[in-house]
Amino acid sequence: MGEMQRSITGSDQTRGTQSSHNTPPVSLSPSQLDAPTNLPQLYHIRSLQGKGQAMIAACNIPKGTRILCESPTITLPGNSHDSASALLLAQLITTQLSNLPAITNKHFHTLHNNYPPPTPAAVGICKTNALPLSHESLSAGVFLTASRINHSCAPNAQNIWNASLGKITIHAVRDIDADSEITISYLEPFLPRPERRAKLASAFGFDCVCKRCAVPPAQIKQSDARVERLVKLDGEISDGHRAVRDPLGCLWKIKEMLGLLEKERLGGSMVLRAYYDAFQVVIANGKEARAKVFAERWYASVIVVEGEGTKDAVRAKRMVERPAVHVLFGMGMRWKQGAGKIPRGLGEEEFGKWLWREKVGV
Ligand SMILES: [Zn+2]
Repeated sequence: MGEMQRSITGSDQTRGTQSSHNTPPVSLSPSQLDAPTNLPQLYHIRSLQGKGQAMIAACNIPKGTRILCESPTITLPGNSHDSASALLLAQLITTQLSNLPAITNKHFHTLHNNYPPPTPAAVGICKTNALPLSHESLSAGVFLTASRINHSCAPNAQNIWNASLGKITIHAVRDIDADSEITISYLEPFLPRPERRAKLASAFGFDCVCKRCAVPPAQIKQSDARVERLVKLDGEISDGHRAVRDPLGCLWKIKEMLGLLEKERLGGSMVLRAYYDAFQVVIANGKEARAKVFAERWYASVIVVEGEGTKDAVRAKRMVERPAVHVLFGMGMRWKQGAGKIPRGLGEEEFGKWLWREKVGV
């Protein structure tokens, strides 16, 4: 997905956290790093053998915790991948750097640079470390702390640009144990291992040894088969006509997708989107009781990834309170039934069967 892609330089961008050209080890605490946050210190930045700098959990961090909230030190326009604008880009970066305090400038220059001369060092640092600033545009930012977070294909955290704060946020999308590395994904979500390896090697200059990549061949085969199925399901679920024609089939595909995401250790935005899709399928067919449950799960997933107060969070919360105000309400009406009631007193399995309509006649 767009928000998960590093965006400024297209295929020539590199990150290279595991390359042999690592910057000298530095150990900077968040307070040294212009971290504009009053959050308790949940992490340290330190060197990890073979990986350069890394963000390490300072304590147990529960899923949904905001680990970091940070303003960009340098911002880059969406067209900066255009080679004709290389000179302009260099000027833009130089101007911004000249307006920064000396200490910030110094910390900027400790970020990893994967671009050898003649690329100017500041430009190389920006290309190596930029993170996307919005879902829609290709604009990007360099962050003194967030840009030091390494990649995993099974990340335990996610970066999101929070437009209302004007800052990037990093949220835990899984429970993270103290002393373990905090990671985000630099790639789109549904790529089989050979494609992930090729992209990470060419764009970021390292071989990934994450929990999904460094496993025996039999497991890699199973994992790639699940990814292939996820791509197919994603296409089918996104097809609005199918959702109207076969809402029940669509709902079951979403349930299958959530199971595969869990097996692949992919959480965050993909889970959020799956619950939003389930909500839409159900509300389009007039099922308010189920829609309310899916809206609750959608909202809970938004809070995990983004926290309260974002546009998505406000929208999801509204749907929990009044699902029938959604624009799709009743458009399909396959399951003509009034508001209905959420069944009480059911065990998790029975409730799941009701929710996903796996029981005949409900
Ligand atoms: Zn990997």
